[in-house]
Amino acid sequence: MGELEIGKQMPKRAELHNHLGGAVDPPIMWSIAHNQGIKLPSKDYWDFEDLITIGRHEQYNSVKEIDQKFYYWTELIQSSPYAIETSVKSVIGGGYRKCNIVVHELRFCPMKRNRGGEQDLDHIITAAIRGMDRAILEYPQVKAGLILMMDRSLTYQQNKIIIEKAVKYKHKGIVGIDLAGPQKKNFKMKAHLDLFKKAKKAGLGVTIHTGEEGRLTEMKFVVDYIKPQRIGHGILAWQDKELMKKLVKQKITLEICPTSNLKSGVADSLNHLKKMIQTLYQYKVSLTINTDGPEMYKTNVYKEQQLLINQKILTKAEVSQCFKNGFRASFVK
Ligand SMILES: [Zn+2]
Repeated sequence: MGELEIGKQMPKRAELHNHLGGAVDPPIMWSIAHNQGIKLPSKDYWDFEDLITIGRHEQYNSVKEIDQKFYYWTELIQSSPYAIETSVKSVIGGGYRKCNIVVHELRFCPMKRNRGGEQDLDHIITAAIRGMDRAILEYPQVKAGLILMMDRSLTYQQNKIIIEKAVKYKHKGIVGIDLAGPQKKNFKMKAHLDLFKKAKKAGLGVTIHTGEEGRLTEMKFVVDYIKPQRIGHGILAWQDKELMKKLVKQKITLEICPTSNLKSGVADSLNHLKKMIQTLYQYKVSLTINTDGPEMYKTNVYKEQQLLINQKILTKAEVSQCFKNGFRASFVK
């Protein structure tokens, strides 16, 4: 691993935690928006790039701030079959060319791609699958899968529909389900238990965004009662030895996204991030390295790897182990 990692010399990598809303190259998003005649707040490309990416010196205080500021436009632009097909295709191809990502899981919430019900969910989901299939035709070295996300801002009924669609399209390339979105007072993980059960029973992989910010109550509930194969972030488990032991015992893999944690204030400094990741590693929790959306965070899995090595958060050997964990923990078989 080093500066000479270009083209064929790059080691094979897996990316498991990548949001479609933060994963598409800004110029491609710009064209998709124009091709659909979407009215944007500026006629200047550079303003648009600022609008959908987090600048080097930009810093936020919560996941909610990032969610509201950045996903609004990308979700709107991606809300059509054409847009979602083009987006998915570009991300999977780009991941292979830029970082040699040969196992790529990409996630999105279909209910946030249907213009409030104006677009048909089946059209949106099958368009995403088509984009993935076309990318794999161009890059047959890549194995890819899509994760359909539920969201804390949606109703139980809406989330239920997402799970039904995931089950329906399982044989076509939907490999798992997730639940994401900033914490909300009226959201109850417990009320969604049967949906996770249903997904598991159908053979879908389960990952859940939790243990990213706030208290650990929800993550503990998830580990004890939902028992997913993976957790999105989960980085706050470093504060609780018993929880870390449970993660190891149950073989739950954490999808760690270092730059995202720094930008959203989950880690308030590199030292803080170091403490979190090193503690998890010491307790032998299975970790993987991901971006959370490479274009939005102006990163990629290679840069995340280099950040961890250069800041002496993990050694090269430990980073290699994390990528091995990624291949093992992938829902794409
Ligand atoms: Zn995420």
